[in-house]
Amino acid sequence: MAIPDGGKVTACVFCDIVARRAPAWIVYEDATTLAFLDIFPFTRGHQLVIPKRHGARLTDLPFDDQMALIRSLDEVCRRSERLSADYNVALNAGARAGQIVFHVHFHVIPRYGEANPFRSTSRAPLAEAEARSLVAELSRT
Ligand code: 5GP
Ligand code: ZN
Repeated sequence: MAIPDGGKVTACVFCDIVARRAPAWIVYEDATTLAFLDIFPFTRGHQLVIPKRHGARLTDLPFDDQMALIRSLDEVCRRSERLSADYNVALNAGARAGQIVFHVHFHVIPRYGEANPFRSTSRAPLAEAEARSLVAELSRT
């Protein structure tokens, strides 16, 4: 979607996912938030939780959207526990903090006892069969 930004027009891939103009393996949706599988997962079942309303950072969102996002994060964390009891939650704010997609998102990253996965330079793309099995496991209520 084209986001007006002080006269510039910026494309946002997560707005495109919200609007179903871009594909995603969606695992959770409600009126104001969405969660889907990361296409370059750090570990099996890496999920992203986003507000439907565009904002680059948590602090850009209205209060109600912030609260809704945290409630959805809680739901996604609970579902992540179907894969492993342990997980990391991360939010990167700003390029120097590693933010690549400037539509606020929480990462929920299951941990299975592997070495630090965040140093990995080669992240394999999510395979379709894996995505289908994860959606089946994570999208049920
Ligand atoms: P950031 O570094 O901005 O916190 O993380 C952005 C995340 O979004 C990365 O983990 C990246 O793999 C993921 N990502 C980037 N583009 C897409 C996309 O088009 N679809 C999905 N599902 N994930 C994406
Ligand atoms: Zn956006």
